[in-house]
Amino acid sequence: MMSRTPRTSMLLIGLVLLFATQLRSESEQVCTSSSCSKDVDDLRYLYDKLTGAVQPDLLPFDEWNFTLPGRLPVYFPIEAETKNYVRRVQNVVFSPVRPTPFETTCRLAAVSDDALETVLDIDSSSVWNDDFLNFASGNRIRMGSNPLSHRYGGHQFGHWAGQLGDGRAVLLGEYQNRKGEHWELNLKGSGPTPYSRRGDGRAVLRSSIREFLASEAMYYLGIPTSRAASLVICDDEVIRAELDDSPPKLEKTATVIRLAESWFRIGSFQILAEQEEFALIRSLADFIIEHHFSAISQNSSDKYLAFFEKVVENVAEVTAKWMAVGFAHGVWNSDNTNILSITIDYGPYAFMDRYDPGFVPNTSDDEGRYSYENQPQVGLFNLNQLHAALASLISDVKKSQRILNNYFQIYERKYRYLMNQKLGFEGSDEKDEQLHEKLLEMMHAVGADFTMTFRELSEIALTDLAKENFPEDFWSLPKVVELGDWSEWLKSYIARLLRGGSYSDTARQKRMQEVNPRYVLRNYMAHRAITQANNGHYSEIDFLLSVLKKPFERQEAADARDYARRPPSWAAKLKVSCSS
Ligand code: AMP
Ligand code: MG
Repeated sequence: MMSRTPRTSMLLIGLVLLFATQLRSESEQVCTSSSCSKDVDDLRYLYDKLTGAVQPDLLPFDEWNFTLPGRLPVYFPIEAETKNYVRRVQNVVFSPVRPTPFETTCRLAAVSDDALETVLDIDSSSVWNDDFLNFASGNRIRMGSNPLSHRYGGHQFGHWAGQLGDGRAVLLGEYQNRKGEHWELNLKGSGPTPYSRRGDGRAVLRSSIREFLASEAMYYLGIPTSRAASLVICDDEVIRAELDDSPPKLEKTATVIRLAESWFRIGSFQILAEQEEFALIRSLADFIIEHHFSAISQNSSDKYLAFFEKVVENVAEVTAKWMAVGFAHGVWNSDNTNILSITIDYGPYAFMDRYDPGFVPNTSDDEGRYSYENQPQVGLFNLNQLHAALASLISDVKKSQRILNNYFQIYERKYRYLMNQKLGFEGSDEKDEQLHEKLLEMMHAVGADFTMTFRELSEIALTDLAKENFPEDFWSLPKVVELGDWSEWLKSYIARLLRGGSYSDTARQKRMQEVNPRYVLRNYMAHRAITQANNGHYSEIDFLLSVLKKPFERQEAADARDYARRPPSWAAKLKVSCSS
């Protein structure tokens, strides 16, 4: 964008004001049609824009660029080695690396208009061209940008895995948007890096579609998450065994531009602690506190403790949100635990269909470490790893241990609050927990659908519920109602609603529908989009994105495709694994 001096701005404002006054007096004299008032509105808008009262327009992609040089390369040491080969890296936080261009044809399969526009200020109608395709595939680097891969480590499945790092992703650059927010653009599937270990640096079509859709779906559900701006699908193929026991085959590759305000992870600290790079641990913590935890004073003597406390709270919160929406991450290793506690690295995740607390979405997870019900415990495990990695910065271990000991209490409070919302309760009551648990127990007993049981409860009047007068399309709640314990539960439920002062059924339904989604990204829905995309048809991705953008609103088009109905029988047989 062109920069404007204060003097030119004043001149422009003056001119606009003059025009506006003239137009207004003309319109007072001669204008009778609505077009005149539109002219005045336009001019006012222009005036507001010049005075900074409204934000500038979206940028066409060819006028867009990163905010250069970016905060990260200025602040952190970058490895001097520029050759791209797998190695052990020390004393730096980033290594320079360029994405590897694809050899065959790539196509822009989908974009999130909202992520492009609200995060990156890019006019989404300006991206359907080769320029953007080259950018989003990593085939061409934008002028001034110096891509980096991040060095991190982590515990995988409970065991220290050593150096991991961005093995198939690069940080393309940073962008400060018109709201003043800083975002980091991370291109996944961009080819080998120093951290690729034995991998090829690529991501396959199926996992990229799943990541693209889940990132946006979670955002619209109100769950902290990275965003996805674009999905590119390429004819280059790589070999993958989709499941542990399936034969390896060639699969199409893809890239996703992922957006987050920070891509640092618990593992970012862990690798530095393991290598005893204490000065870097301090710089990393200082940077993160300054830019992402600005409520903590940099000069405070216990700022690292305050930082740790906030992370503990955030992890408890995001876990509670996952649990309340029936989401299982599937591979919540410490390297996949973002330092801002947003959901990242979508792999073998799932939104549960039938409610089963022991549900394990990842078929490679033999021991069920990342089952739905274990997630709060896994959150604590990951926080313990962060605690250990911050040991050199935190002197009052008694206090930090006390913070850790509080984790479950914070989690439980948030979870109970969300469950109360799901059931339409106002305030809290000591018997609420019993009501939550009993309902879940009944849902488990009959294998009721997690999403639709709550949703149907929100879509029916209590008088109809009491009479078991269900709308024709209900398919989940009626199963629960058949149970012997139901009528007792219903009585307690109604009594609780009355105790909370919620006499209006309409108000209860409205409240509940605002928090209980009608549509979630079920594995079978993503699978459909994947099958079609493998045959070169991408419209289902767009369709799903449009549905998942409004998960709480009943949508005719989605219902016409049965997306709020019982999943087809083949859905239960679908499997996802770590292979991606
Ligand atoms: P993930 O399970 O996707 O979070 O990845 C765990 C680690 O393995 C990270 O360090 C990734 O960068 C790395 N990784 C996963 N897949 C590949 C691949 N195809 N090529 C290189 N590195 C990979
Ligand atoms: Mg990861």
